[in-house]
Amino acid sequence: MRPVREVSSRPLQIDKIVRTGRKTLALVVDSQGRLVVRAPLRLPRADIVEFVNRQADWIRSRQDRVLAMRREAVPKRFVDGECFLYLGKSYPLRIVTRAAQPLLLGQSFELDRAARPQARSVFEDWYRRQARQVIIGLVARHPNASAGLKSIRITSARTRFGSCSSLATLSFPWRLVMAPLEVVDYVVVHELVHLSVKNHSRAFWLRVESLLPDYRVRRDWLRANGHRLRLD
Ligand SMILES: [Zn+2]
Repeated sequence: MRPVREVSSRPLQIDKIVRTGRKTLALVVDSQGRLVVRAPLRLPRADIVEFVNRQADWIRSRQDRVLAMRREAVPKRFVDGECFLYLGKSYPLRIVTRAAQPLLLGQSFELDRAARPQARSVFEDWYRRQARQVIIGLVARHPNASAGLKSIRITSARTRFGSCSSLATLSFPWRLVMAPLEVVDYVVVHELVHLSVKNHSRAFWLRVESLLPDYRVRRDWLRANGHRLRLD
């Protein structure tokens, strides 16, 4: 027996059609999950509807992803029991009194009650310190690729997970260290390879693959989960 395809009950709706002098159709799922179609000036509406229906699977999976991201984008409140990521694992927060340090990680994150008003910056400082250590450790694992590296910067970047400057400085956001170690390693390798190959050419990806044969799995994890690596 052939498996029955699951059919979404949500009707596929075109929220907006933007007509311009373009020659082809393009679909955009915006940050609210709405479907926007860019279409040539005189293309009949029936053709647009037909195209949209043919792309239904792609549209639905995009919309599901956007909606899932919106559900998860809840700012942290730094309260007892709330969970925080570190190297891919989720740890609950416990608010404690008179701790030796403002924030410690054991079986759980322990935040000193006195530090709670500054919890966000306390966490950020903690992630920053870990990020530096973890990333320096990973760079050391790839001695051939890191020849020529001048310095490593830990930044507050929100939209990208790494960058490589022409001055051989690599930058990584502190929130990267919320991801599993093998994913952090992928980002490190990606940027190390940029020291010698500046673009994303075939030669670039072959070099990445020679260092991390399973880089695709790690890259896919980041694409699917990157939006979760945040405090707000
Ligand atoms: Zn790149």
